[in-house]
Amino acid sequence: MTRVDENQQLFDYERCVKASFDAIVPVLKRISALQHEEGFEVQAQAIAREQLGFGLPAEILEDAWVNQLDMRRLFAWCLFETYRRFCDEFFTEAPLGSVEEEQAFHTFIQDCGFHTLDVSPCADGRLAHVIRYVLRLPYRAVRRKSYAGAMFDVDDSIQKWVETEMLRLREGRPNDTDMPTRYLKVAVYHYSSGDPDNQGCAAHGSDATRAAQGGLDQLSAFRQAIENSFCCGASIDLLLIGLDTDTDVIRVHVPDASGDMGLERYLDADEVRKQTLRLSAYEAEARITELVYATADNVAPGMAKLISRLIANNFSQIDYVRAFHGEHYEDIGHAERFIGAGIGFEEVQLRNLTYFAYLDTVEEATQDLDVGVSIFTKLNVSHGLPIPVVVRYDYHGQVPGARERAIKRCARVTDALTARYAKLAESGLLHTLQVVRDCNVGGRIEVLACSVNAQATQEARG
Ligand SMILES: [Zn+2]
Repeated sequence: MTRVDENQQLFDYERCVKASFDAIVPVLKRISALQHEEGFEVQAQAIAREQLGFGLPAEILEDAWVNQLDMRRLFAWCLFETYRRFCDEFFTEAPLGSVEEEQAFHTFIQDCGFHTLDVSPCADGRLAHVIRYVLRLPYRAVRRKSYAGAMFDVDDSIQKWVETEMLRLREGRPNDTDMPTRYLKVAVYHYSSGDPDNQGCAAHGSDATRAAQGGLDQLSAFRQAIENSFCCGASIDLLLIGLDTDTDVIRVHVPDASGDMGLERYLDADEVRKQTLRLSAYEAEARITELVYATADNVAPGMAKLISRLIANNFSQIDYVRAFHGEHYEDIGHAERFIGAGIGFEEVQLRNLTYFAYLDTVEEATQDLDVGVSIFTKLNVSHGLPIPVVVRYDYHGQVPGARERAIKRCARVTDALTARYAKLAESGLLHTLQVVRDCNVGGRIEVLACSVNAQATQEARG
């Protein structure tokens, strides 16, 4: 049942993107070794163009003969430039998109009895590929909003629910309100099978049970809130999924007839896979469905159909990890390349590339940010490298003043970040890039400002 061609295509994309980020340090090491040689600037530019595909800012190189080459600034500059190129490619070439798959998926979930799939994984970078890779879903057809420990903001979800139901009522999108479909909220927590005590969820002290309970409590609170706030039998459906970040195997907590889930009542995709390995695709599908029904009493047929699909999809990802990485990923721990703070980041569909901190203001997301900064203190600061933070706000271009508000927000959040982590920022160990994007047009990101350049300007002025 594995989609071999798709696996190769997904792997080529992942390898290519990560290679572009991972080339930065070796190239800078080479350049650093040359900094006091004759013709340094010319040599450095040639190496950067050949290895990274872009040149370096002349003003940073020019000062190398008198000062030490400022490697922290140079590293941040290269990382942000690589990010910008990665975004441009994503939004102009859609390497992971497929319009046909999106349409087929909309039809499929409505057949299952849902009109919206809203997923909140943990903000951990090892879950950033959960939609497109682990669950093999079209990323544009699924709402994703990540939070530390999958502890999603219930109020934000209520707002999205209201917006969704309003669109159905006013415009019949994605379907009419007289269709008996519901909003499905999914929380994805995680654990590590190889090193459970150290490489689990940082927000839950690496305790898989606590992580699962946290997700379940949040889901129940959301359902309660909808039922209490809106009459006429308004309710939503819930699903809890666990992810082993070492192997990408999922476990699905199958809801019973009343939609309730148990922490111990789940179906492990790898167990199911073992039981279906020798079966034909047709028999395997039937067996998966049988196992879903055997996990919980009277699970709703639509929910069973969706879960069966998710498990079958996950088989491809399990094989992906085995084929390209072995028994488990080599980087079972954190290896994110940058922090993404703000709202947006649709382009990040790859594992261990980005630590997410979705936020309107720094104050309300201090936990998510602190977890991110502590992860990057180990990853980067301990090696003398800065923490790169992309501050990003997507906006709807048809709303008057939306772009201006997004720009202001970017500046405000950047100032608050710099103030909260002042020591890091002052020693050049925290760098920020401010970007906005009109998500209605579906175009490229717009770069507003970068701390690397701000510093240069200040130095020039001073
Ligand atoms: Zn986590």
